[in-house]
Amino acid sequence: QARKRFGQNFLHDPGVIERIVRSINPKPDDAIVEIGPGLGAITEEILAINPRLQVVELDRDLIPVLRTKFFNYPEFQIHEADALSFDFRELMTDRPLRIVGNLPYNISTPLIFHLLEQSGVVQDMHFMLQKEVVQRLAAVPGDNNYGRLGIMAQYFCKVQPLFEVGPGAFRPAPKVDSAIVRLVPHKELPHPAKDLKTLQAVVRTAFNARRKTLRKALGAMVTVEQLQSLGINDGLRPENLSLADYVKIADLLVDSGAAPAGNNEVSND
Ligand code: SAM
Repeated sequence: QARKRFGQNFLHDPGVIERIVRSINPKPDDAIVEIGPGLGAITEEILAINPRLQVVELDRDLIPVLRTKFFNYPEFQIHEADALSFDFRELMTDRPLRIVGNLPYNISTPLIFHLLEQSGVVQDMHFMLQKEVVQRLAAVPGDNNYGRLGIMAQYFCKVQPLFEVGPGAFRPAPKVDSAIVRLVPHKELPHPAKDLKTLQAVVRTAFNARRKTLRKALGAMVTVEQLQSLGINDGLRPENLSLADYVKIADLLVDSGAAPAGNNEVSND
């Protein structure tokens, strides 16, 4: 019986499972971590290639099911834990982590923010998400769903939407369409901000008023003259600005002493 509060929709379509695993392309020596293995649909296919797979699963009733099913993989490790507060850095040994998961959709946005914070130890991430969340991750300026999630994901990672999956591939079937996305952390940030918290504050403030002009949306933070000094037209809307522009605004706030520098944790508030 799938549990709603854990966002459980188990994959059962072998064709879709195979396509996901082919996209991940697991290698025997990779350090792979699966979030939310559930009944082990993806787990099983990865284990056949990489017997040292580690999983993080919150539902304690699933732990014995997974132990029994995969008893013949002595190196398989199960962490009974909440992925939202899990420190993935602890799993890192000699190589960066490859994180995969058909994520519980009710927590996917905070979970992605939590993982972005740890992207320094990550080689790549492959996630099944609600299709709309994948569109937000990949959105570019001008798109309807361009906003905080896409900007912060693209700050840390290259975002590659891979393919869509219909509700029929799951049991029980979710009410929404799903899609697979690949996130590859940048080796060097293309637009490093002097202070990440300030960047986040600017982006959050801007998109709290996404229909207004920048002049109004960011009025409490920057002056029209400051925007103009950066070559940014204050009559634009938040959805028109690129990541590079947001970084410029945040850096100007740091330089002008309006924001404290030196905090580089990602926050999800
Ligand atoms: N991977 C399986 C599959 O594709 O069939 C199950 C996917 S199901 C959408 C999400 C899984 O994440 C469930 O097994 C659920 O118990 C687990 N889960 C939910 N919240 C979690 C959390 N905070 N941390 C870790 N796992 C969680």
